[in-house]
Amino acid sequence: MVILGAGPAGLVLGNLLLRAGIDCAILERSGRDDIRHRQRAGFLAAHTVGVLARNGLDEGLSRYGQEHRVCEFRTVDGRFRLDYGRLGAKEPHTVYPQHRLVADLLDSFLGAGGRIRFDTEALAVHDTDGPAPSVTVRDPDGHPGRWQARYVAACDGQHGAGRRSLRPGAVRHNRRDHGVSWLGLLAEAPPSLDAVGYAVHPHGFAGHMARSTDITRYYLQCTPGTRADAWSDTCVWDELDTRMRAADYGPLTRGRIVQRTVVGLRSDVLEPLRHGRLLLAGDAAALISPSAAKGANLAILEAELLAHALTAALVHGDAAPLDRYSDRCLTHIWRAQEFSHWMIGLLHAVPGAEGASPFEERMRGSRLAALRDSPTTQDWFAENYVGV
Ligand code: FAD
Repeated sequence: MVILGAGPAGLVLGNLLLRAGIDCAILERSGRDDIRHRQRAGFLAAHTVGVLARNGLDEGLSRYGQEHRVCEFRTVDGRFRLDYGRLGAKEPHTVYPQHRLVADLLDSFLGAGGRIRFDTEALAVHDTDGPAPSVTVRDPDGHPGRWQARYVAACDGQHGAGRRSLRPGAVRHNRRDHGVSWLGLLAEAPPSLDAVGYAVHPHGFAGHMARSTDITRYYLQCTPGTRADAWSDTCVWDELDTRMRAADYGPLTRGRIVQRTVVGLRSDVLEPLRHGRLLLAGDAAALISPSAAKGANLAILEAELLAHALTAALVHGDAAPLDRYSDRCLTHIWRAQEFSHWMIGLLHAVPGAEGASPFEERMRGSRLAALRDSPTTQDWFAENYVGV
């Protein structure tokens, strides 16, 4: 079994397959240090925590993860808080930075005897309809190589070799550009509020998400095409204060901004996720906007389903779960996409967020009011916000 990519999807899959006694190797384009330090997601759903705990992959998470259960909306009409951990499915998030989870998963994989090749880029997947698909690679010295396996799992993200190797006619590519961009910032600063902060402001959206006691992620809606370094640190903090309404609710704790990324809010779902002996999981299968913090959680859910299906096929000779893999994942993916799309509408008054019409603004105001006032809407929100 060959797995492309050592992100959350590839490493959870690799760990689960090793536990089932299936020999597997991971091919990773980046270096070991790069993947251990790539800071991205942080909010893990209860299901994700369950998968990791059931498989003994939660040592760091259970020691250092912080329970998180409240979000706060700041709008022109004031602010309100939702204790989503007590609403709907009554499940909190666990905050644990993705790079630390990746480091834990990597240590566990290597500790269990897993093989991983760093600095090895998969170029293409071949012969996926036959019994022995193969992967051509460029090794760390730039030399070509080839790996053969019974199955190949593409967990190599949206620009990986898995996606590139699909025959155009064999895949349906569902795409949506939401027309909104965020400047994603990571600050060496303690969280400024004990909640996920969502600010809806005439200048645009601003978000606040804790990552650890001394690191906080912020988002600022920006014009698509904005360069990540377009604003100075002072401008960024001033704008965050404005949109988060620091004058009313207290200033944000400032700190050094250590990472800036412009994220275009896009959705991108491939169907089906199985192409003979090539299986897609995580961002390789579907890309989701970060508005509802679903990407890493979906990646881990899909890895779990794929590990189950491959174990049934390779250990028990039962191919049925593999046949159902794509449909099962897509059910979850589309539900997450729908909720994420709803969140984008809640936070940005799409379409045309910047030039949103008064009609769209009023619709958004009504949606926020329903979330503030209706227990049924709050339960629905909580169930979808934490669920995958
Ligand atoms: P990745 O993590 O992208 O891993 C893919 C791996 O494949 C990488 O290590 C890459 O180096 C490797 N690779 C790529 N191409 C090749 C190749 N050709 N050959 C070999 N290896 C290759 N999600 C959440 O759930 N909650 C959040 O709060 C959240 N916040 C986010 C914030 C930001 C700024 C960003 C960018 C994303 C965020 N996400 C969040 C999304 C989440 O990080 C991703 O959905 C998640 O990393 C997907 O995991 P993956 O394993 O599928 O892919």
